[in-house]
Amino acid sequence: MTVMTSAPVEFGQDSPNRPVPRPGVLDIAAYVPGKSKAVGGKTLHKLSSNETPLGASEKAKAAFSNSGTMLELYPDGSASELRKAIGEVYGLNADRIICGAGSDEILSLLAYAYLGPGDEAIYSEHGFLVYDIAIRAAGAAPVVAPERNLTTDADAVLERVTPRTKMVFLANPNNPTGTYLPFEEIRRLHAGLPDNVLLVLDAAYGEYVRRNDYESGIELAATSENVVMTRTFSKIYGLANLRLGWGFGPAHVIDALNRIRGPFNVSGPAIAAGIEAVRDRAFVDAAVAHNDTWLPWVTSELEGLGLTVTPSVGNFILIHFPDKDGKRARDADRYLSERGCVLRLVGNYGLPNALRMSIGSEEANRTVVSHLKAFTGS
Ligand SMILES: *Cc1c(COP(=O)(O)O)cnc(C)c1O
Repeated sequence: MTVMTSAPVEFGQDSPNRPVPRPGVLDIAAYVPGKSKAVGGKTLHKLSSNETPLGASEKAKAAFSNSGTMLELYPDGSASELRKAIGEVYGLNADRIICGAGSDEILSLLAYAYLGPGDEAIYSEHGFLVYDIAIRAAGAAPVVAPERNLTTDADAVLERVTPRTKMVFLANPNNPTGTYLPFEEIRRLHAGLPDNVLLVLDAAYGEYVRRNDYESGIELAATSENVVMTRTFSKIYGLANLRLGWGFGPAHVIDALNRIRGPFNVSGPAIAAGIEAVRDRAFVDAAVAHNDTWLPWVTSELEGLGLTVTPSVGNFILIHFPDKDGKRARDADRYLSERGCVLRLVGNYGLPNALRMSIGSEEANRTVVSHLKAFTGS
């Protein structure tokens, strides 16, 4: 048998001899998750990803444990029981709900369904970075609207709308700033958008907010043709590890997302746990009460040390360490990490002088405050 050898094909610079991703993919900065290890310290206090210190509902944990009996069978691809439970608890039509592997999946599905090359999508200056990834991954161009006082500026968003704009992503409240827009402002923003622009209201922290002028967007998503609200089980429900989120919107949007999602995008254990978690309102109330106690406490203690803290309505705060190049924030991060407290540097959010801290257990909160007291020499 003879082996035929042929001369190697010549490739120019424009055609390397390997598969090449679509234009734009390699411009994406991969998401950097919060660290889960400290440099030192006896106890680890992970306050880097806005997880809850209260764990998950016992009922949800029991449902999860009981769900792993038939691993060979596919789950219910339409997550009907879970959508029904969410619909009952939140007073929504279950047909207009879609579940996903985290709300991150819903955000990506929205981008893939409505954005493509030549399109633009707007998010705010310190907005959640998953938006930037989803927009670019869909081949569209992100447009960043400047904020005012670390808060979304509805006018700045509206000023950036062009005929190419197809979508606006808005976290309310926003991560990592913790600030929010009163619902009047959201309505004004919505009223100023062309009808063909989809407004995505990401209410990942909606359950934590205790303000009379706040709404998560349910009403607007229920009554508009171009508004979708997303929610997650990762934060107040304490199911981040299971990857479960959902979206609520007009039937035509949910229909589009259902056409492009993976047919079994949510696992059986996630469905089982989610049903019990969403029904366990006592657990959610306890989490809100914990946050209502410790968010103001940590904020005022840190302000007492001379630090600036952005007023937050979520379960996390932004702590500022002003200097020229963010060295002080990095030093504080290292100091805390060496003592077992892991916070989050947010330089990639355009906030090099700040650390984001999730509100933790009483012990974690007290520990961080006492370390920062020593760090600042107060
Ligand atoms: C944590 C977070 C989410 C939720 O992500 P999941 O994929 O559901 O875990 C969504 N949006 C914002 C702004 C968040 O901070």
